[in-house]
Formats: sequence, C-alpha cells, structure tokens
Amino acid sequence: MSEDLEQLKRRIPLLEYLQRHNWRACRAGRRQELVGLCPLHQETRPSFYVNAAKNLFYCHGCGRGGDLIRFVQLFLHLPFHQSVAHLQQQLMPAHASQLLEQTATFYQLQLHRYPEATYYLEQRGLHDSAVMEELGIGYAPGGNLRRHLAAWGHSFDLLLDTGLINSQGRDAFCRRIIFPCRQHHQIVNLYGRSIGTAFPHRLLPRSKGGLFAWESVSHFSTVILVEGLFDLAVLWQTGFRNTTCAIGTQLTSAQLLQLSDQPGRSLYIVFDQDQNRAGQKASHQLALRLKSAGIRPRIVQLPHGHDPNSYFVAGASAGDFTACLQQARPL
Ligand SMILES: [Zn+2]
Repeated sequence: MSEDLEQLKRRIPLLEYLQRHNWRACRAGRRQELVGLCPLHQETRPSFYVNAAKNLFYCHGCGRGGDLIRFVQLFLHLPFHQSVAHLQQQLMPAHASQLLEQTATFYQLQLHRYPEATYYLEQRGLHDSAVMEELGIGYAPGGNLRRHLAAWGHSFDLLLDTGLINSQGRDAFCRRIIFPCRQHHQIVNLYGRSIGTAFPHRLLPRSKGGLFAWESVSHFSTVILVEGLFDLAVLWQTGFRNTTCAIGTQLTSAQLLQLSDQPGRSLYIVFDQDQNRAGQKASHQLALRLKSAGIRPRIVQLPHGHDPNSYFVAGASAGDFTACLQQARPL
C-alpha cells in the first residue's frame, strides 16, 4: 500500500497538480522552492511554499503542510482514501475517460430512438425527463457502438481494454438501459440494466467508484441508501434528493468512508425485501458496521415484497414512503 502511494506521488508531482489547478508561483530563494498564494485560504500576500524536490508544501499563513495526498484532502475536503481514489482517477488516461464520456452521450441519444427503451422506463415508473437527463440515462441497443467510436478514432484495443466490446468485437451492452457512474464529475463506469432476458445487472470491468451521485448528496445530514439505480431514480423523481446508491448491497470501504464523512449523520437503509432474506441480512450487517463508524442507521421496511422502485410503481406516494421512513427505528 505505502509503496503504491509513493508511486502515485511520483507520478503526479505536487507542483504539477497545483499548476493544473491554476496555482501561480514564483521562485523563492532556494532552488526548487516556490511561493504563491495559498489555495487553502484567502490571502493577499503569498505564504504558500512548495518544495518541488521534496514534493512537499507548507503554508505560513494557515500553518498547514504535507504531501500531495494531504493537499488533496484539504483542498477537496475529502477523507484520505477518497483523496487517493481521486488522484488515481487523474491518472486514468484522458482518452479512456473521454471514451466513456462519448459512449454515454451516444447512449443518451439512442434512448428516444428505441420505443422498447422508453416503454421499459415507463414500466419502471420513470417519467420525469429532467431527472432522466440529470442522471444521464441512455440506452444501448447493441450492435452500433463500435462503429460510432471507431469513427471518433478510438482503437479496437482501447474499446476492448475498457470492456465496451468483447474480443469478438461485439458491444458489451446490448438491450440495456445505461446509467453513467460519475466520480468528481468524471465518468468512471457505466451500469447497464437489461430490458430483456439477459442477466439484469452489468458494469464495465473497472471500479464502480464511490457512492452514486455522492457530490450532490453528501451535504445532507439525513441520507437514504438504496440498492439499485431505478430505486434512486424514482426517489429523486419523487423529491427524495438525499438518496444515494451503492449498486448492490456490499459497500466498498471507500463508500463506507463517504457515508461516515459527516459525524452524526442519519441513514435510512432501504434494500430489497428478498424471499431468501438476503437483503435484510445485508442491511443488518451494514447497519452494524455504520453504527460503529458513528452513523445513526435505521433499516426501513417496505410493504411485503417491495423495493422502493416497485413500491412507487404500485402507486405509493411521497407520503407513503415518508411514513415507512418514520416507522424505521434506530438500531
Ligand atoms: Zn494557507
């Protein structure tokens, strides 16, 4: 781990990172030492020093200093693990993230060209076009992505490496509703929900990133955590904008850290009520882990057999859902 971190810091020199964020500096006395205005607080006289050789900073104004990771923590208000993830993200080749961006845009354009896709969204209770637009929902009909991306000049190998096509050159996503997963405004993965008989869930073979849409949810002191993106979409549509999703019931440690980045936060866990009680078990285990991290978790019971999506499709209102939240007791 610590070797990985050293390598990460070598690959993104602190000075380069600062300059990418428009930090302007001039040379200070000694070689390799620069000084400029502190990006961490308001000031008019430069007191932020960077030693490019040692890859360290120190500010005489606010008294803070350290390495690149420490800077990212302070600069982006991120916990340690997320700062590392953010930096790793920056190392993702620009063309790979551009590729995912172009793919998501392409899929978004397909959505209204295929009646089966819009019909499926209606069936799942999604009708608010502003929410769909905001989430970047698209449709992968299958069979046309490779040609489109090749026209943009992306090589077969890059498409294969990203997992967008298989070794036979076929599109990985076929007859799937697509949700782009973003982290720090960059697409890190694509989730595809099958509208046909194929296995329902599919992600590209890469990290799914942090909690879904965490940038817009993290400021809430009460957060709703759901299992699937359709649950999230209908909740957003109904006005529960404090909903996030881990795409599944197993949270990564980065996602756990995100949930616990605000002490005393209340969390409503609304997972599916599975026949085999898998969802209930997962909720309970997660709630225990979160409780020990200072979060106040509650497990929400929906009427028998429902997940948030099916509950709203069956006609539940915002008031019905709020009543379920209110009935949930803290653990
Ligand atoms: Zn400072």
